[in-house]
Amino acid sequence: MARARSAKQPPDRGVLSKAAARRRISELRQVIEHHNYRYYALDDPEVSDAAYDRLVRELRELEEQFPEYITPDSPTQRVGAPPAQAFAAVRHGQPMLSLANAFDEDELRAWARRVQGALEAQTIAYVCELKIDGAAVNLTYEDGRFTRGATRGDGVQGEDVTPNLRTIKSIPLRLTGSRLPSLLEVRGEVHLSVAAFRAINTEREAQAQPLFANPRNAASGSLRQLDPRVTASRPLDLFVYGVGAVEGLELRTHEAALRWLGERGFKTNPHTRLCTSLDEVLTYVREWVERRAGLPYETDGVVVKVNDVRQQAELGSTSQAPRWAIAYKFPAEQAVTQVKDIKVYVGRTGALTPVAELEPVRVSGVTVTSATLHNADEVRRKDVRIGDTVVVQRAGEVIPEVVRVLTEHRTGGERAFTMPATCPACGTKVVRPQGEAVTRCINASCPAQVLGRLIHFCSRGAMNIDRVGPKLLMQLLDRSLIKNPADLYRLRREQLIDLERMAEKSAQNVLDSIAQSKRTTLARLVYALGIRHVGAHVAELLAAHFGRVEALMAADFEEIRDVQGIGTTIAESVALFFRQSQNARLVRELLALGVRPAAPARTQAGPLAGKQVVITGTLSRFTRSQAEQLVRDRGGSVGSGVSRKTHFVVAGQDPGSKLEKAKKLKVRTLSEAEFISLLGP
Ligand code: NAD
Repeated sequence: MARARSAKQPPDRGVLSKAAARRRISELRQVIEHHNYRYYALDDPEVSDAAYDRLVRELRELEEQFPEYITPDSPTQRVGAPPAQAFAAVRHGQPMLSLANAFDEDELRAWARRVQGALEAQTIAYVCELKIDGAAVNLTYEDGRFTRGATRGDGVQGEDVTPNLRTIKSIPLRLTGSRLPSLLEVRGEVHLSVAAFRAINTEREAQAQPLFANPRNAASGSLRQLDPRVTASRPLDLFVYGVGAVEGLELRTHEAALRWLGERGFKTNPHTRLCTSLDEVLTYVREWVERRAGLPYETDGVVVKVNDVRQQAELGSTSQAPRWAIAYKFPAEQAVTQVKDIKVYVGRTGALTPVAELEPVRVSGVTVTSATLHNADEVRRKDVRIGDTVVVQRAGEVIPEVVRVLTEHRTGGERAFTMPATCPACGTKVVRPQGEAVTRCINASCPAQVLGRLIHFCSRGAMNIDRVGPKLLMQLLDRSLIKNPADLYRLRREQLIDLERMAEKSAQNVLDSIAQSKRTTLARLVYALGIRHVGAHVAELLAAHFGRVEALMAADFEEIRDVQGIGTTIAESVALFFRQSQNARLVRELLALGVRPAAPARTQAGPLAGKQVVITGTLSRFTRSQAEQLVRDRGGSVGSGVSRKTHFVVAGQDPGSKLEKAKKLKVRTLSEAEFISLLGP
């Protein structure tokens, strides 16, 4: 039941040893990558933005403390996520950056001080805008005609969604006025009103389809459709808030740019305000903390921008965000309620999650009836007891959280919670391994785990069998029609029609949705298997490396550990999973029943296609990660250790033991110059 995946509790900061910091950094990166994939690629986040922001902040602080561990591929160094393969990639004329965040007024003041410091005695005006919670797009106009539209993607390249954007009525296909620039990139936020979001979810619920978590994800999901007719059926809207690359037009201030865009036919947000002091900025922020609830669309903060374009240029940008703008994030909405009970749910991995059952309360427009308490340590740390009055928080997420207990409301009648000694679903004795926060049921055939694994298998990021939800799975299990995921592909029409509330048509829809899932990708299948520590991102890495499920199943621990981005824990878990005969049998059954996992598209043409390269020592012309990227760009893969599968070892200065191993295994070694010539032009 608990969908939220969080990193274990952060250890006490400030007292971390170097080794512990390195471990925590690597753990945080993995969890953040997983959430990025769910959020940017699947439009289906598992945790609140506030919880996500906390993880990123912790990582950023650790990287500041231990800068030697900063790598170019850390989520703190990148914007968003690369474009999905289903869309053509588009290179933006000018990068689309993210925004630095301020989580309170002090952080906003500190930013203003930095800006003032850099601009010395100049007077500074700011433009305050609402931060619309939607999906960023880049619209390209050539001689006034809309020619291409893309999502932000990783900031450098986005997804080409031109036909979808053409269906949005507030996007002008031709600009009004004369003397139009020859090239113009317009940046804005595609969004959905809260009312439209609710209507879409009501319809999806009626069709037993998974619900969107919030209007942002609904907007992004509607925009990133392969069929523009689906986009056209959703009332998407757009506010524009800036320009990117431009030729043949000069705009001196941000305010003038917004006015110009409005005059050319774009919709700009009416609540934008020019402020001539930081006090005015703070007044705007405080005003909108109160007023935002009354808006028909969701906002998650205020964006403050330096108005003068020359001053913007003087301040410049980091690789991630401009220094001349900042996003003040609204605090998550909270409410006070009572804990009626604390129940324990068992998830697919056997983890026991305590969940507070709450007296229903409205938080940001939604009635909340339960909140996750994560694990026993968390319950103890927050000292949540049955009967307590608590503050709960929700920030667009599916599962709200208990922030703190209002101990002043205690009457003495509250009851402390203890984790049960046996699994509430199957009665097996539970275990809590030393050093872990999670208590587990270790009975693999526990009915709650079986159901959890099936729900995961069918979920959107996995096999995406959207007509088979938890309720149907429960019925199928109750009637012994299925025991494992392979049985889904054996279901027959007459078995389904016999089920409660299942009409002929719905039975057919269920079968169609199961049949459609057979054509899938290897990454989805690997993720669907629910291997411990294998989130969607890790599944992509494994799929990209092995190409075929048979190759992954046959790989031993060392080969798996050699995959770029995979560590010991994951490699152990994957190798162990396929060593268990029932798991290997399940995969073989799925293949025999017609599941066809497509291998990820590889660069076939590159000079290193299909070759594994290991790099050792220091190169003079590239950093290690640049060299690795060059290998990947040319179709090769990068190994971390030398094995019989390695084709080349590139040896820079001071090579390590890898060079010796290469000689022993007779793997060809290359000098840096030979490597460069192999890369080709
Ligand atoms: P961001 O959303 O904090 O800020 C940048 C974006 O703000 C821009 O790209 C643009 O799309 C948008 N924006 C809206 N109104 C704007 C305006 N008036 N002017 C300029 N930009 C405006 O940063 P991000 O890099 O897009 O995403 C990071 C955020 O996404 C995180 O802070 C987190 O809240 C959320 N996130 C959540 C999860 C999750 O699992 N819940 C995962 C990844 C990211």
